Amino acid sequence: MAQLSGKSVYLTGGASGIGKAVTETFIQEGAFVTVLDKSAAGLEQLKQEYGDRVLCMEGDVTEYGDHINAVRAAVEAAGKLDVFVANAGVFDGFAKFSEVTPEAMSDAYDLLFTINVKGYFNGAKASAEELKKTNGNMIFTVSGAGFYPDGGGVWYTASKHAQIGLMRQLAFELAPDIRVNAVAPGGTLTALNVIGPLKPFVTAVDPDTKAKSIKSRNPLRIAMTSEDHVGAYLLLASDQSRAITGEVISSDGGLAVRGL
Ligand code: NAD
Repeated sequence: MAQLSGKSVYLTGGASGIGKAVTETFIQEGAFVTVLDKSAAGLEQLKQEYGDRVLCMEGDVTEYGDHINAVRAAVEAAGKLDVFVANAGVFDGFAKFSEVTPEAMSDAYDLLFTINVKGYFNGAKASAEELKKTNGNMIFTVSGAGFYPDGGGVWYTASKHAQIGLMRQLAFELAPDIRVNAVAPGGTLTALNVIGPLKPFVTAVDPDTKAKSIKSRNPLRIAMTSEDHVGAYLLLASDQSRAITGEVISSDGGLAVRGL
């Protein structure tokens, strides 16, 4: 039997990359998925591919009201909410703290933290009441940068550490009603966007160089794709993990065993 049969899922950033791969797998496993994303084109594509198995909501994760609308629409369409996946995020392109201007530094902090941290907080707050009714769960997409330096620049690394802190606090506060966990992908071949204020300080990298760099950084020597991570999300979303909360599943090619 499909692992998410009859489940209603709300996911942010499902129009591209890791969020899109998770959306596709969850639909294949029987879920109805409501996606909030700011990319109208990406949402249109998703709608064409999955029809009435997906509900596409155009919006911005920094706006609390957009999450409220998405949760309301999910419940109207599916009658309930079982899972919230906080995933939409942006990157700092490894921009160096020591090299950027103070203005760009401050703008980068505000923009990146508002999307990556407040965006997760907003979604969690908007979905908690409905998840409580179903004994549901939340899954945060974090990153190897939530544990180690040099998975991004200083802003991204700090935001990913903050997401893990938020996940742990919510797991503590929302037990026993709602489980809260995270998946930490390592460097993955996606279109993850560098925020505007840091673009002048970032050197663009072609896909081949990016793949080689990702491969060389993890012990399993994998140039990871979005699909490599979906199994971890599936486990955490399903009833197979009913005893797991406050945990991070690392899906990163073994960053913890790189050695000295
Ligand atoms: P992506 O750019 O392919 O997908 C991100 C999606 O989020 C896009 O569809 C984008 O439109 C949407 N989005 C961005 N800002 C938004 C906003 N303010 N409101 C609504 N939607 C917004 O990137 P991805 O690599 O799939 O990133 C997804 C998550 O995975 C992020 O949290 C990222 O930090 C994390 N992650 C990525 C990598 C990697 O190497 N790509 C590694 C570890 C973790």
